[in-house]
Amino acid sequence: MLLSYGASFLIKGILKPQVAVDNYSFEYGESIELKAEDLFDESDLESIKTFDYDISNLEKDFRGNILVGNYPININYASKLWKYTQTINLAIVDTSAPKIELKTNQLTIDVGDKIDVLDYITSSDLSEYEVQFDDSKLDVKVPGTYQILITACDVYENCSEETLEVIVKEKFVPPVVAKPDPEAPSQPPKPPVNEVKPTYVDGILIVNKKYGIPSNFASGEDPTAKAALVKMINEMQSLEFDIQNGYSGFRNYAYQKQLYENYKAKDGQAAADTYSARPGHSEHQTGLTFDLKHKNGALVEGAAEAAWIKDNAHKFGFIVRYPKGKEAITGYMHEPWHLRYIGPRASDIYSSNLSLEEYLNVEGGNYR
Ligand SMILES: [Zn+2]
Repeated sequence: MLLSYGASFLIKGILKPQVAVDNYSFEYGESIELKAEDLFDESDLESIKTFDYDISNLEKDFRGNILVGNYPININYASKLWKYTQTINLAIVDTSAPKIELKTNQLTIDVGDKIDVLDYITSSDLSEYEVQFDDSKLDVKVPGTYQILITACDVYENCSEETLEVIVKEKFVPPVVAKPDPEAPSQPPKPPVNEVKPTYVDGILIVNKKYGIPSNFASGEDPTAKAALVKMINEMQSLEFDIQNGYSGFRNYAYQKQLYENYKAKDGQAAADTYSARPGHSEHQTGLTFDLKHKNGALVEGAAEAAWIKDNAHKFGFIVRYPKGKEAITGYMHEPWHLRYIGPRASDIYSSNLSLEEYLNVEGGNYR
């Protein structure tokens, strides 16, 4: 044992000490310091008296940080008797993505408010980076929920992303609501002539080309309907239908008027009436109606989605308001994406195979 120990000691004394690792990696921006313990094995450490290396000539950027890359550097070291030089590789890498911090994940603004997305982001990274966001879908004139994707990529292509949800809310105007009269006979009320009032039949608000709602009816998005919609969208997404979280929901009178006037100016009244409601006749003004959209922003009308929506929307309290084959009575083309919240009675309407007009026995079709 003793002999063996002595031999091993002797060999260590004779062998040239070596830098133990030949590649050292540092994250870009990190301060670079190689310590004796990092460079040499413990068995060599005691024989190393001095060591140095020079990284002062390596290429640096304007921040004074060594650029990402591989650099051969010489480690000079000496024992009591000898001087050595060994070349190792110094690797500067950037593996960390920029950090994005949102001041809030969900921002609620009023219709017409302007926002600067950059006001809601702070970001940082050791290397140069760029923050980008896409707010092209955000329309502050249209109430709804919008997702803004924010990405930050550094020059070494490390990227991170965050989503800012912006809810554009209709400015609150107290609604004028005529309560349904439980004493009233179940005869459908006469369509309004001059003074427009909201029309409820069996407690269900009816809006079509015959029945309008007042211009100041602006209760905004109905929270119960919205919650049901979110459930339904989640379910569709879990079934891998291409449906986005955003949708077209509540529209106030003024906005619908602007939409319709634009269409009328472009295509003429007769054509505009086939695809756009006149102000005061849009179901979107009820806050109970939502248009589903694909992730690319297009309205949902693919056969597979449309079939699923037709047979399942009622489970969430919705009806497809303008079904196929009911164009004459609803006054609209088939719109598989346009959902109207009814509540539990949606299932009854679904199984009846009737349009809402037929189900409530009220007049539909074109404007009078
Ligand atoms: Zn619609």
